[in-house]
Amino acid sequence: MSDDKFKNIIGHAKEYGFVFQSSEIYDGLSAVYDYGQMGVLLKNNIKTYWWNAMVQLHENIVGLDSAIFMHPTTWKASGHVDAFNDPLIDNKDSKKRYRADVLIEEHIEKINQKNLKDIAKAQKRFGDSFDEAQFIATNGRVQERLQKIKAIEDRMRTALETNNLEDLKLLIEDEGITCPISGSKNWTDVRQFNLMFSTEIGSVAEGSNKIYLRPETAQGIFVNFLNVMKTGRMKVPFGIAQIGKAFRNEIVARQFIFRMREFEQMEMQFFVKPGEDQQWYEHWKEQRIKWHKNLGFSENSYRFHDHIKLAHYANAACDIEFDFPMGFKELEGIHSRTDFDLKAHEKHSGKKLQYFDNEDNQNYVPYVIETSIGLDRMFLAVLSEAYQEEALEDGSSRVVLKIPEFLAPIKLAIFPLVKKDGLPEKAKEIMNLLKFDFQCFYEEKDTIGKRYRRHDAIGTPYCITVDHDSLNDNMVTIRDRNTMTQERVAISALKSIVEERVSMASALRKL
Ligand code: ATP
Repeated sequence: MSDDKFKNIIGHAKEYGFVFQSSEIYDGLSAVYDYGQMGVLLKNNIKTYWWNAMVQLHENIVGLDSAIFMHPTTWKASGHVDAFNDPLIDNKDSKKRYRADVLIEEHIEKINQKNLKDIAKAQKRFGDSFDEAQFIATNGRVQERLQKIKAIEDRMRTALETNNLEDLKLLIEDEGITCPISGSKNWTDVRQFNLMFSTEIGSVAEGSNKIYLRPETAQGIFVNFLNVMKTGRMKVPFGIAQIGKAFRNEIVARQFIFRMREFEQMEMQFFVKPGEDQQWYEHWKEQRIKWHKNLGFSENSYRFHDHIKLAHYANAACDIEFDFPMGFKELEGIHSRTDFDLKAHEKHSGKKLQYFDNEDNQNYVPYVIETSIGLDRMFLAVLSEAYQEEALEDGSSRVVLKIPEFLAPIKLAIFPLVKKDGLPEKAKEIMNLLKFDFQCFYEEKDTIGKRYRRHDAIGTPYCITVDHDSLNDNMVTIRDRNTMTQERVAISALKSIVEERVSMASALRKL
């Protein structure tokens, strides 16, 4: 997708009340955003889709809403105080700051793109007889690039794992990586930067104490493991799901709501018997990609990416990457976290965080599979995939958000044809009938054509128009967002017509 299209999406999100820059009247706050009247509806629908898929559809997954502030020792135990760092590097000419690992990963992706181009070209040349696997295995140039990618990845992993910041810089220099802004290779040294925000709790008189804004919601789940297990009488395997704010002092924050300093996560920690972790890891990979693909977007918009460097707590980890306007990037992480977190909290709190297995007659610290998705990134994925500029047959054009109907902010827009003759009253009557079932929107200003365009632009699946005949025959014209076709239907049939297309339950049933 072009930069222009991304700019158009950002402009559109503002113009139609989806996303605003935070504190805009004061020129904004970098990497912090507010959700407007349409944005909050879409966001809430995405949350419900996730929450219901987890909590409502699984007897062995329950919810939690833990506080943002936590005892400071939590973050010592989790490793965030010591290791939640990003390696940063500055370009001396542009004065722009980058994450060293991201610069290298983007460089790798460029090499990967060259291979994909060669593969596509060969496919064109050979047509139906093309064997992709064979081409990759035998083409010299492609093989050379694959080896190069592997060498860079290996070197980066070693440098990150051993905290060898000098070699990370050398790798950037050896690969000739330039600053995307200045084009120069004039880099500073690489430094580590802790991403947690801190503040003080209590008044000064009481003696203040440094505490952190949580950088992930997961730790609230771990410290409540015993509470939930006991009060919910949970049996392993079981899961705890949570949606909530997280805060990270991100170094590079230039990509709209993709990377924010305050954002929301939807995380689920699934506690399993040690030894069964690999099988559950595969299970959740499958479940999560199914949840994404159930939205009906292009199959080619998703790919799995195994982590090059495993976090200190993980024995297996991958990302579900999405083809965002700026290319494939992480949308969700699936991590096999072993017993790292619970054991660390046992050690620091002195409390036993174990499960008694009746069958084996033994206590153990469960292993954990985590699924962690950014709500805001999911919002951006939906918005960017749904955004379409369409040329119409009559020579005009429209911008339409083809948001999956069950996620659309407004499900049904209700228009009186004119603002008189009892049509507004009739339209309001329909609104009062259906507002208990769907988010409806009443609109009487401008021509019907303009009203249609406005609702295309926010993704409303259905618009209905009440005209003079409606007063006698109790029928209205219903117009479909995707096909723009219009049909005359009975007012009494509206509920079931709309329900069929916008129902969250139908979407969940397909999972
Ligand atoms: P990245 O490598 O992009 O910084 P991460 O690997 O640090 O992400 P995780 O710690 O695995 O991310 O967090 C889980 C999810 O939370 C991510 O997949 C992403 O969707 C979301 N997320 C993380 N950081 C941010 C952020 N700064 N803004 C918005 N969403 C975020």
